[in-house]
This record gives sequence, structure tokens and C-alpha cells, in this order.
Amino acid sequence: MRADVVIIGGGIIGLACAYELVRRDVDVIVAERNARVGREASWASLGLLRQRVTSDDAYGRIAQYSADAYPDLAASVHEDSGIDPEYRRRGGLEVAVTDEKLASLGRFATFHGSRGLAVEWLEPRDIRACEPALSEACLGAILYADDAYVRPPRMLRALEAAIVARGGRVVKGFAASRIVRGRGVAVESEGDTLYARAVVIAAGAWSELLGRGSGLFLPVRPVRGQALMYDAPAEMLRRACGVEKTYVAQRDDGVLLVGSTREDVGFDSGTSAEGIADLKRRAAIACPALGEMAPARAWAGLRPAPARRFPYIGEVESNVWVATGHHRYGYMLAPGTARVVADGITADETPIPLDDFHPERDRARVEGDQSGS
Ligand SMILES: Cc1cc2nc3c(=O)[nH]c(=O)nc-3n(C[C@H](O)[C@H](O)[C@H](O)COP(=O)(O)OP(=O)(O)OC[C@H]3O[C@@H](n4cnc5c(N)ncnc54)[C@H](O)[C@@H]3O)c2cc1C
Repeated sequence: MRADVVIIGGGIIGLACAYELVRRDVDVIVAERNARVGREASWASLGLLRQRVTSDDAYGRIAQYSADAYPDLAASVHEDSGIDPEYRRRGGLEVAVTDEKLASLGRFATFHGSRGLAVEWLEPRDIRACEPALSEACLGAILYADDAYVRPPRMLRALEAAIVARGGRVVKGFAASRIVRGRGVAVESEGDTLYARAVVIAAGAWSELLGRGSGLFLPVRPVRGQALMYDAPAEMLRRACGVEKTYVAQRDDGVLLVGSTREDVGFDSGTSAEGIADLKRRAAIACPALGEMAPARAWAGLRPAPARRFPYIGEVESNVWVATGHHRYGYMLAPGTARVVADGITADETPIPLDDFHPERDRARVEGDQSGS
């Protein structure tokens, strides 16, 4: 099979890139090794869109660009697919239950306000008025009016259907093993080869393995995140709330999500008794009523973590693009990533310079770590 662009990996990043390209009438194939797209980190995600990166660098710019692009992306995939990804901008809270966190939240409120985010400081009585299910031990909180979320499984299904509706192809059960560069690009799997003018590596936590097999430096490692789901009473929480690094968020259908752990356990994507117990304890600190309930389900996924903070986005060799390493912010950064990749491939220029997202920027650090220095 042949296409203009082959995208390796059908997670939120690969699908968002594919959708942005088919919207520009580019002939795209998404190659996914699993029998279904979006069953790895992107399926495990809570789907929270918390714009907290306001730095004056390329990361800050792509975060803002993504936040601005979300309403259009959500409306467009909904229209093309008939599936509502449940993009909701209901605002979110960051809550302190310790004095240390209270002090840091105070600094964040000032800093984020000065950077143009819509922030409001809440005293304990305001928090209870806003979100009565949160713990009475809350000492203070920031209300971020523009925080939003999507429902990941729906977003993924909607994107896949929207890509197909616009003429894109999704090939499942295709485990890319090597990328061969010539005049164009050939993506090989054990039994098949896909040919294209350009390729985008969006293979999440497995990107490093694919890069290594193809002579590309792409230092992404897996970081496991576990999460819980509770069948909570309807409208227990209106906004997504971050309480001391634990996030609790309730969907339209009442399901309440709690996440997540951060663990270096290689490619083990299973849940663990310790991880679940830790999340249950943290859930009860955030919302005491959850301490009386048993979670209905637990799951885990492997976040693709880059060597430093910046994800890897851009053309690393002629016609070989990467879009990976989004770690804890893949949903938040998906629309911006997709737009810059699509701009770069179709127009040869991007609205945000991509130099800072190049994996080579991390080579010295990675090689230093490996040599133990
Ligand atoms: C518990 C948890 C909660 C999270 N919550 C949030 C949140 O609230 N907000 C947020 O923004 N982010 C969140 N994240 C992070 C977010 O989920 C990730 O950053 C994002 O899903 C990464 O997307 P991806 O497409 O790069 O990777 P994946 O979703 O892992 O997709 C990669 C795809 O590539 C495929 N693949 C791999 N190798 C090959 C190959 N050789 N050939 C073909 N296909 C291949 C895989 O099968 C997979 O489908 C969370 C993550 C976890 C685990």
C-alpha cells in the first residue's frame, strides 16, 4: 500500500496528526500494531486539559496554541464522525491540603494570573461552596476557569471515524519494525511494507524501540500511570480537581475518575495492588465519600516520557517526522502537535519553531546518564 504520509501509532498523537492532515486533503495511512487503535496510554488517560505551561519558550507556545485549538478540533471531529468527544470547559481546581502546597499555590496564582490565565483564589468556604464533595481539610485553591476535559475513549473513536470519513486509512495489526529511507520512505513490518513520501513516528512509549531499529535517536521511556474509576453519585463533582498531585474528575455519565501513579517499571502496563491502594488512599483524602466506596475498575497505561521536559516534534531526517514523548500532557498538547506537524509536512513551515523539540537536544544528557557522569 502507498500513501502520501504514513503515521506509525494510533494513539491520540498519531490520530490527531492524521486527522489534521486529512483535513488538508493529504492521503494518509495510520499504521497501528494492535487490533484496535487507541488502546495504550491514550486509552488510560483521564483526558484533562489543564493549561499550566505558560513559559515564554516553545513549550509554552505549543501549550497555548493547543488550548486555543481544542474547541475547533472537538467540534470538527464531532461533525465528521457523529461521535461527541465530550469536550467540556467547566473549569478546574488545584487544591492544597498542606501548608507547603498552600504556599506554592499562592505563588502559582500570582504567576499564572500575570501570564494571562483566568485564575481566581478560593478560600476554604468558597471551595466548599464550589465543590461540596471535597475534603473539609482544604486550605485554599485556585480556580482555573478555562480548564477543560475530553472523554478519551470517545475522542479516540471519534478521531478514527473522522479520519476514515475524510478518506484516510487505518491499518490495524501492522507492527512497524523498520523505516527504510530512500527517495521516499518505506515502513516495514514482518509481513508487509507501506510506502510513502513521509512518515511520522507517533509510537508513544515504544518510539525508542522503533527508532533504534531504524538508526534514529529517540530517547523515550515508559512511565506507568495507574488510575481508578468509581460509580459515584451523579454530580458529586462539577470540575476536575487536583488535590496534592491526585486528580479527581467526574464525567457527564457520573463515572468518577481518580489518577494517577508515576512509576518506572519498564514496559509492564498492568495494575498493582500497591498502586491501587495508594490511589484509594489519595482519593479518600481528596473526597472523603470515596473512602466509603470501592472502585469499580482499575487500569494502567505507559506514558511516553522524553529525556527532559520537551516532547519530540519535528523532522529528524528528510521526510522522517516524529511526534512523541508527550508524557503527562498528550491530550493537552495533541491539537498543537498535530497542526505543526501538518503545517511542516504540507507547507514546509511551522507556526512555532521546532528546534527545541528536536531529540538531538537531549543527546548529551542521555549519553552522560549512560556513562554515569
Ligand atoms: C493514567 C494516565 C492518566 C493520564 N492523564 C492525562 C491527562 O489527564 N491529560 C493529558 O493531557 N495526558 C494524560 N496522560 C498522558 C497521555 O495519556 C499520553 O501523553 C498520551 O496518551 C500519549 O499518546 P501517544 O499517542 O503518544 O501514545 P499511545 O497512546 O501509547 O499511542 C501509541 C500507539 O503506537 C502504537 N505502536 C507502538 N509501536 C508501534 C509499532 N512499532 N508499529 C505500529 N504501532 C505501534 C501503540 O500500539 C499505540 O497504539 C495520562 C496518562 C496516563 C497513563
